[in-house]
Amino acid sequence: MYKQTIGKAIDIVGIGLHSGIPVNMKLIPAKSETQGVVFIRTDKNIKIPVNFENVVDTKLATVVGREGAIVSTIEHLLSALTAFGIDNITIEIDNDEVPIMDGSSAPFCMVLEEAGIVEQKSKKEILVVKQTVEIEDNGRFVRVSPSDENIFDFEIKFDHPAIKRQKYSFKYSVENYIDEISRARTFGFTRELNYLKSIGKGKGADLNNVIGLDDKRVLNSEGLRFKDEFVRHKILDAIGDMSFIQKAFLGRYESFAGSHHLNHLLTKKLLADPKNYEILQA
Ligand SMILES: [Zn+2]
Repeated sequence: MYKQTIGKAIDIVGIGLHSGIPVNMKLIPAKSETQGVVFIRTDKNIKIPVNFENVVDTKLATVVGREGAIVSTIEHLLSALTAFGIDNITIEIDNDEVPIMDGSSAPFCMVLEEAGIVEQKSKKEILVVKQTVEIEDNGRFVRVSPSDENIFDFEIKFDHPAIKRQKYSFKYSVENYIDEISRARTFGFTRELNYLKSIGKGKGADLNNVIGLDDKRVLNSEGLRFKDEFVRHKILDAIGDMSFIQKAFLGRYESFAGSHHLNHLLTKKLLADPKNYEILQA
C-alpha cells in the first residue's frame, strides 16, 4: 500500500455552521509525500498543517490554528479524508470554517470520488495499536486496543425519546463507511441552539444541515436517515478525530458517550508512549 492524494483539484462552496458565512474551499492534490493534511487560509496567506501542535479548540468543534488564523469544524472533512485513506492533501479556504454541507460527510465523499484517489511513491505508514489506552471521565470513556481489524464500537445514552440508548459496531472499509456512516448527520437540541445563538455561534445551523430535536421529537420534516443516525454520526466524528495520529490506524476503538475532547486526549495519550503502538510500512 502506498500513500495517497487526490487526482485533481475540486472546489466546494457552502456556509459555516457557527459563522453562517459563505465559504469557498478548494481541495488540491499534494505534491509532497510527507506534508499530511494542510489548510491554507488564502485570505491571510497562512498555512495550518493538521497536527496536535495546531489544535486550538475541541469543545464545540475541532479547530486548528496558527499565527492568529484558524480553521474550525474540520472534523467531518477529516473523517471523509481518513476513510478514503488520503495521506497528503492541500485545502485552500477563504474563511474561518469548513462548510457544514448537509451536516454529514457524504458531500465530501462524493467530491473525493469525483476527484479520484492517486497513489504516491512512498509506502503508507500504519499505526498498529499494541496495548490498550483509555481516557475515562465520569462514566464516559474512549479506548483503543489491539485488533487485526479496524473496528469502531460506539454507545450513547440520552434521556430523549428519539435517541435513548444506541449502540453501533462499525467494521471499517471505504465501502462500509460510505454505506453505513457517511450519511449520518450532526444533531443538536433546540435549547442548545438557543444558547449557541446567544453567544454568537450556530448562526448557520438550520434543519438542512443538522438534525434538530426539541424535548420530545426530531424536528426535520424528512425524519431520520437511519433510526440510529445519532450514534453513527458519533462514529463519523471519531474517525475524523483519530486522523490526528497522522497515520493509517489499525486497532479497535470503543467509546461510551465520547466526545471530540476525549478523542483528542486519547490520541495524545496513545502517541505519548512508544510501547502503545508500532509503526509498520504496508
Ligand atoms: Zn460531527
